[in-house]
Amino acid sequence: MSYNVNEKGYYGEFGGAFIPEMLFPNVEELRQNYIEIMSDSSFQEEFQQLLKDYVGRPTPLYFANRLSEKYGTKIYLKREDLNHTGAHKVNNTIGQILMAQRLGKSRIIAETGAGQHGVATATVCALMGIECIVYMGEIDIARQAPNVARMKMLGATVVPAVSGSKTLKDATNEAIRDWINNPEDTHYIIGSVVGPHPYPDMVARFQSIVSEEIIAQLEEKENISKPDYVVACVGGGSNAAGSYYHFLEDESVGLIAVEAAGKGIHSGESAATSALGKTGIIHGSKTLLMQTSDGQITEPYSISAGLDYPGVGPMHAHLYASGRAEFISVTDEEAMNAGLELCKLEGIIPAIETAHAFAIFESRKFTKDDVVVVNLSGRGDKDLETYIKFFNL
Ligand SMILES: *Cc1c(COP(=O)(O)O)cnc(C)c1O
Repeated sequence: MSYNVNEKGYYGEFGGAFIPEMLFPNVEELRQNYIEIMSDSSFQEEFQQLLKDYVGRPTPLYFANRLSEKYGTKIYLKREDLNHTGAHKVNNTIGQILMAQRLGKSRIIAETGAGQHGVATATVCALMGIECIVYMGEIDIARQAPNVARMKMLGATVVPAVSGSKTLKDATNEAIRDWINNPEDTHYIIGSVVGPHPYPDMVARFQSIVSEEIIAQLEEKENISKPDYVVACVGGGSNAAGSYYHFLEDESVGLIAVEAAGKGIHSGESAATSALGKTGIIHGSKTLLMQTSDGQITEPYSISAGLDYPGVGPMHAHLYASGRAEFISVTDEEAMNAGLELCKLEGIIPAIETAHAFAIFESRKFTKDDVVVVNLSGRGDKDLETYIKFFNL
């Protein structure tokens, strides 16, 4: 069985491109060109140069001594939190802005929920001097004032989505409407391994730098070419896809995906898509999503904005359905405690999304010789207010 995308844009039975006809020319233009553009040596040169000099790659692979001692196994942290803008998302937005330039586009649109992807997009648009419009639900704009300010400082126009629940899915609808109306000059930067083919594959390839570096760094540090396990939190699934990418077809590497159980899987306030989801179509892709019995998308909930998404990308739906990856869900409380533990044991304040990945060590046991790489997807500065409230700091 293959775990990567096939030539039709499917991962097993998941993926594809379920889009309105008016969007077809835009998606088709991207599909026909993305592999060739990415394979071009001048593209790769510019991409690698920016990752190095602007983003700060390679990010370290750090042996977490005290955490390893506590859990009786060898834990390495892939430090995506040290990237410029504080998370892995910028690997993708750098790749997509270069893609947009090669496609001759002069205008960028994006959707954002909590604002992290909006900031990563506004950042690369400033870098390249390209117009940037970010659609964001009116409610999210009110909830995420610092990220709205960041986007504005970076020169982006933030457009409120005022329909429906005034959150991420409404912002996505607005972005799609914009793209339909501006097919010639506009590229839509999607922020995770979601959306119609070729987005999940393109984003996974841009993020695959993470597992590429893990291989080289483990060779240097442990004299091995692969870990026993890779652990990552999953919202849409891009940091997980990047850290799994070069290990997908090697079943001796265990893949562990950590989802947000919110207040508990069966509490009605959760974002544990694999446990609760059924096959359906969201954002142009056939995948697992949380829905009611008549197919309405359920409002997800997680204390971490980045995991608060009702679906997962099609790669992860396939990794789940095929049993290739192990899916574990973690509650708000477990994640918050694991985040605080990482602060005390290693001096690293993680994003709350990332804290979910660390919470598995309480229940999922590893042997003392196992090499476990945790993808530390982002830093916690953006989450201080949530930490302060939760722990009464
Ligand atoms: C956005 C975000 C996530 C979730 O997105 P994925 O596409 O699942 O990686 C996880 N961690 C951090 C720090 C984020 O900002």
